[in-house]
Amino acid sequence: MSDTIFGKIVSGEIPSEFLYEDEHCVAINDISPQAPVHVLVIPKKGIPRLVDAQIEDQDLLGHLLLAAGNIAEQLGVAEAFRLIINNGSGAGQTVFHLHLHIIAGREFAEGHMAG
Ligand code: AMP
Repeated sequence: MSDTIFGKIVSGEIPSEFLYEDEHCVAINDISPQAPVHVLVIPKKGIPRLVDAQIEDQDLLGHLLLAAGNIAEQLGVAEAFRLIINNGSGAGQTVFHLHLHIIAGREFAEGHMAG
């Protein structure tokens, strides 16, 4: 957990509809979607940024990737989605509780890393 908005969502302090939940993470719709499918996978443990993760978080990080793949399947977008982690405000991170963006349902430019 953390004192951020995502910490409060994960703890239930701020009611939110979970598209998915397991022991270690939840998934919610992004409040300001950048694509038809824009889902956030949020670990229950509040790690501020990816670079703050430690070796003890190794299993959790793997779990988040597997969960993201399963959620993409559940959403019917397993054939074409992007997974994004913004690390640091310079990269656009605004909520300092690690999360993965699943983005899908729009055209992706070929050969680009983003956009
Ligand atoms: P980032 O820029 O990687 O930190 O992403 C934070 C994301 O959280 C943004 O895409 C916001 O639109 C989204 N967001 C902020 N507050 C909420 C909220 N209460 N519920 C759902 N998504 C949110």
